[in-house]
Amino acid sequence: MGEFVRDLLPEPVSYYESAGLAFQQRGKWRTTRCEFHGGSDSMRINTETGAFICMAGCGARGGDVLAYQMAKHGLPFVDAAKALGAYRDDGKPHRGPARPTPIPARDLLQSAAGELMLCAMVLSDALAGKFSDDDYDRYRDAAGRVIYIAGVANA
Ligand SMILES: [Zn+2]
Repeated sequence: MGEFVRDLLPEPVSYYESAGLAFQQRGKWRTTRCEFHGGSDSMRINTETGAFICMAGCGARGGDVLAYQMAKHGLPFVDAAKALGAYRDDGKPHRGPARPTPIPARDLLQSAAGELMLCAMVLSDALAGKFSDDDYDRYRDAAGRVIYIAGVANA
């Protein structure tokens, strides 16, 4: 045993890509499929912190790639840290916290802000007289995700 060394965690984009996820856009928050419930584009990943949250409400979320590794492979904390090369094993008892990082409130706020931006774009189209059923669906879905995020933040 030994201790978890956060600095040794893999860089988030390369970790998620090597796990087989593809990102469609650039930027800090990116969308990809959810491996936990099979959604095609419901997972939001913060490429700087590694935080992740499924907007379909399947419950998959966490604050870093270690939390993802634990959830995806059903591994205990120390085993997941070892699998990611982020564990210094010195034969002594485990030291330090042994729980995954929860998704930070800041990351939840940022993802809600992204959804509200989408709502604002749909509304500005509507004001310009361009409003279709698709726009309404996009607006309703984004609003639903904001409500979901607020529920996670309160949990
Ligand atoms: Zn999901």
